[in-house]
Amino acid sequence: MSQTKLSPGMQQYVDMKKDYPDAFLFFRMGDFYELFYEDATRAAQILEISITSRNKNAADPIPMAGVPYHSAQQYIDTLIEQGYKVAIAEQMEDPKQAKGVVKREVVQVVTPGTSLDGPSRDGQNNFLVALYSKGQGFGLAHLDLATGEFGVTQLDRWDLVLSEIRNLQAKEVVLAGQVSEEQEALLSQQLQLLVSWVDKPLDASPLLPSTLSELAFLAAASLLAYIYQTQMRDLDHLKPVEVYQIADSLRMDFATKQSLDLTEHARTGKKQGSLLGVLDQTRTAMGLRLLRRWIQQPLLDQAQIEQRQEQVTILLEAFFERQDLVESLKGVYDIERLVSRVSFGKTLPKDLLQLSATLGQVPQIRQLLLSLEQAALEPLVQGLDPLEELYALIDAAIDPQAPNQLMDGGLIKTGFDPVLDQYRKALREGTSWLADLESRERQATGINNLKIDYNRKDGYYFHVTQSQLSHVPDHFYRKATLKNSERFGSQELAQIEGQLLEARDQSSQLEYDLFMRIREEVAKYMPRLQSLAGALASVDVLQSLAFVAESQLWVKPTFNQTGQIRVLEGRHPVVEAVLGRQSYVPNSLVMAPEDRIQLITGPNMSGKSTYMRQIAIMVILAQLGSYVPAKEVDLPIFDAIFTRIGAADDLVSGQSTFMVEMMEANQAVQHASPQSLILFDELGRGTATYDGMALAQALIEYIHDKVGAKTFFATHYHELTDLENHLSGLANVHVATLEEGGTVTFLHKIEPGPADQSYGIHVAKIAGLPRELLARAQVILESLENQDVGPQTGQLDLFQVPEAPPVQAHPLLEQIKTVNLSQMTPLEALLFLDQAQKDLQRD
Ligand code: ATP
Repeated sequence: MSQTKLSPGMQQYVDMKKDYPDAFLFFRMGDFYELFYEDATRAAQILEISITSRNKNAADPIPMAGVPYHSAQQYIDTLIEQGYKVAIAEQMEDPKQAKGVVKREVVQVVTPGTSLDGPSRDGQNNFLVALYSKGQGFGLAHLDLATGEFGVTQLDRWDLVLSEIRNLQAKEVVLAGQVSEEQEALLSQQLQLLVSWVDKPLDASPLLPSTLSELAFLAAASLLAYIYQTQMRDLDHLKPVEVYQIADSLRMDFATKQSLDLTEHARTGKKQGSLLGVLDQTRTAMGLRLLRRWIQQPLLDQAQIEQRQEQVTILLEAFFERQDLVESLKGVYDIERLVSRVSFGKTLPKDLLQLSATLGQVPQIRQLLLSLEQAALEPLVQGLDPLEELYALIDAAIDPQAPNQLMDGGLIKTGFDPVLDQYRKALREGTSWLADLESRERQATGINNLKIDYNRKDGYYFHVTQSQLSHVPDHFYRKATLKNSERFGSQELAQIEGQLLEARDQSSQLEYDLFMRIREEVAKYMPRLQSLAGALASVDVLQSLAFVAESQLWVKPTFNQTGQIRVLEGRHPVVEAVLGRQSYVPNSLVMAPEDRIQLITGPNMSGKSTYMRQIAIMVILAQLGSYVPAKEVDLPIFDAIFTRIGAADDLVSGQSTFMVEMMEANQAVQHASPQSLILFDELGRGTATYDGMALAQALIEYIHDKVGAKTFFATHYHELTDLENHLSGLANVHVATLEEGGTVTFLHKIEPGPADQSYGIHVAKIAGLPRELLARAQVILESLENQDVGPQTGQLDLFQVPEAPPVQAHPLLEQIKTVNLSQMTPLEALLFLDQAQKDLQRD
């Protein structure tokens, strides 16, 4: 940094920047936010803005870049999206009145996890996570500042912490206590999260109940400390913290949710192609957020599940009322977000108008539900608090045409405040005084086109064209001269102007004050608005589930305690949505209570994964309270789903795919219970054949004997199908194929028993591999099968596999290998090539 003595303004900047080394400091100077030094060079690059310098002519000019105040938000958003922080320093006094350097202060630090203005795509929350550890165990808190959702839990293992952070899709993590350096590096480097430290958790907060465990309390208190440090204001809209355990809902780690495409399609990251995409017929942003949550956290309590089912059923059957409900929900805005804008002091008239539009729909929604006369809807009806006083207040006060500029008036309806009405009357009268004065002077002067006009610079004036200047009376005085006309004032005009401007100023000020008072009033309703938001979101999700159940012809699942699974003609809703109802082949699944494992064999691309995922999706839908895509479904209630499907990303562990595979398998065998569901797709494929097969077999035996979870195991190891003879709870199923005239058709139908062969070569043919290569593979396969190794014997001795017959090289290859090019003329070389080509064509 410069050694030259800095100007007082720059000194102020440098001092301030010391407190925010990890943020871009936006330093307000008049109509611009300026950035200096390294901030300027980096921001110029990221934001594609030009870079200049301060004191250009000095020996060491200071790099400088700026963004205009009125369009700063878009630049801030870009930086935040890219994972940076922005500290905003405002001028705290009017520069015209300041003595010396204008006083400036950082008023807010915007960070990825605390940004209010980021887009909320597909109902995603923007959670900030705080982690506190004392070396063992972790408290983990999360908060969405835009909606006020605030939760905390305690976790005993690091892998659970990682999974929860990924489940929450956090972009920023606050660390406190003894989180290790390796853990920090993993979060910041492999998960690419913005990581900050908090030295001291907040002492106490009414948002934190004393019943929290120590770690949970410290995590939540660290999170609040960070929020106060960055936002620098009271945050009344935060909901009291909700304590949860991951075991309160159907447990699924992040990889499981991802591989089942629950809320995003794993590859595209979009809602389309996910279960959420199929289920989402919500009409409100709050409903969409809640639906995401229901999908991510299916229930464990049968009574609760059945209550949701019953509510869905009522709405499903009430076709006409449901249509009306949907119409009403279309007028419901995101009041969770509106409420947080109130708390941030960012409310605009349009927010209040949206709030009152929403409140205006509530009585009707309530009435619709009441008219169905069903006890199961009672809790929803209770929650639909129409807040009549608040509705009446906004309705009476806010002008529907109000602009989004708070200082220029036009916010408040006439009739709301008598003083404001008086100002307005004065303004109206003033306008008629002007009209009166205009016609009087026109008559008196004889200037027919005399006009009174207004502009900001000259105020009110008489407009006199060039040709009429000789008629201008003595009591007019000149205000301005233009090309073809002149502007004049008079004492009387000045008097009216004074009164008018005063009335206008005062009325704008009064409107602003009234608006602020109304805003404060709205803030008092915060908790009631939040519970109303919850009820509206539930109604929306329930109608969405009812709509999907009806339009997709789904059925209501039942639950049993025996451990039986019975799915008749089940479908995978996402695959079905892509293929169309006609093309999808439904599959049934019946597992008696004592059955534990299904071993699924069949060709590649035949539908093994789809079948397995279909089971998990069925369980998730059933436990979130939805209907399911099948003819009939009876399920036990599962406590967890573990999966190992597809090639996992190595993001978290930095491990090889096979290592990830084994780690996920370990999760399942260590943590699954007899009430869990396990899906293993081709486990063991990432290592040598017999190694992998041996591991797969040992795993199956272990799950069968020690774990007892319902398990679906898709494999290419036909040898494993022999296990059916040894393990009473294991059954073979396969995907049926039809072989006719040398072509194979996959029927996508699951049938009992093992598959008879693998069809790998057939799939390779479809993929277009060279014919010669395929023929060769066929020879090798037959040779291996003739050696009596494979499904027939179940023997796994690698050394019984014969050497593959040597590949006969073409004699031409030998000639090319040995020909001495350096002894040949170009012509000879060409002749050699010509001969070679002829030989090949002859073959
Ligand atoms: P691989 O062994 O290569 O992983 P797989 O046997 O697991 O393959 P899936 O990925 O489940 O095969 O399915 C492959 C494709 O087959 C799907 O993308 C889908 O288009 C189709 N398919 C799967 N199941 C069905 C079904 N029940 N009805 C109709 N088409 C299906």
